[in-house]
Amino acid sequence: MSVLEIKNLHVNVETEQGTREILRGVDLVINEGEIHAIMGPNGSGKSTLAYTIAGHPKYQVVEGEILLDGENVLEMSVDERARAGLFLAMQYPVEIPGVTVTNFLRTAKTAIDGEAPAIRGWIKDVRESMSNLKMDSAFAERNVNEGFSGGEKKRNEILQLELLKPKFAVLDETDSGLDVDALKIVSEGVNRAHANTGLGVLLITHYTRILRYIKPDFVHVFVAGRIAEQGGAELADRLEEEGYDRYQVAESAAE
Ligand code: ADP
Ligand code: MG
Ligand code: MG
Repeated sequence: MSVLEIKNLHVNVETEQGTREILRGVDLVINEGEIHAIMGPNGSGKSTLAYTIAGHPKYQVVEGEILLDGENVLEMSVDERARAGLFLAMQYPVEIPGVTVTNFLRTAKTAIDGEAPAIRGWIKDVRESMSNLKMDSAFAERNVNEGFSGGEKKRNEILQLELLKPKFAVLDETDSGLDVDALKIVSEGVNRAHANTGLGVLLITHYTRILRYIKPDFVHVFVAGRIAEQGGAELADRLEEEGYDRYQVAESAAE
C-alpha cells in the first residue's frame, strides 16, 4: 500500500521584494488509489504545492516533510522523484525542442523502469493509449509541446500518465482551457489510470467542472497557503454554489 504524505509543509519563494512565505503549514495524506481534489482561489499557493512536490528549485522548503512510502522526497532529484513513482503535470507544460513525443515517452519509460520496454508491446501500448485519448498518430512524431494547443498539451500529459504508470499523479489545472469533449477524454484517461493501476491523484483545480468527470474521495479548500477546510465530494458542490468568498473573509479577519 503506497502513501504520499505531506507534513507541515512551509515553502518560501524569493521575489524582488524579498522572501515570501507561500505555503504556511500544509498537511495532506494520499493513500494509493485515492483521489484528492485541491480547490482554491487564484494565488492561494496551489501551483506552489505542485512545484514543490516536483522539486522545482525556486521553491524553498523551510519546514516540514514530503514522504513517499516513508522515503524523503525532498532529498530526491527531479529524476529520482519520477523513478520513485511521482508524476507531475504542470499548469504550464514546457516545450522540448528537437525531442519527439514518441522518443520522449520511450526515454522516460526507460529511465523510470531502469530498462527499455520491449519494443512490440510498447508500440502497441502507445498506439492504444493514443487512440483512447483520440490523438492522431502523426502526433507521436511532433516535438514535445512545440506548437501544441492547450488541449493537445493536456492530452500529451495524460498519455505520459497512462504509459509511465506512476504511483501518484499531481495534476495542476489539467482542466484549464479544455472544451467539454477534451475535458471528458482527459478525465477518462485519469480514471483509467486510477482503475487499472491504483493511481493516487492530487487534482488541483480552481473550478468544480472537472469533478463531474473525476470523482474525488476528498476535497480540500486551499486558502492563503494552507488547507482551510476539508470534506468529501459534497464540499465541491457547496463551493460551486458559494464560491471562495467566505474563506477570504475569514482569512482577512484573522490577519
Ligand atoms: P495558485 O496556483 O493557487 O494560483 P501560486 O502557487 O501560483 O497560486 O502562487 C501563490 C502566490 O505565490 C502568488 O501570490 C504568486 O504570485 C506567488 N508566487 C508563486 N511563485 C512565485 C515565484 N516563482 N516568484 C514570485 N512569486 C511567486
Ligand atoms: Mg506550521
Ligand atoms: Mg496555479
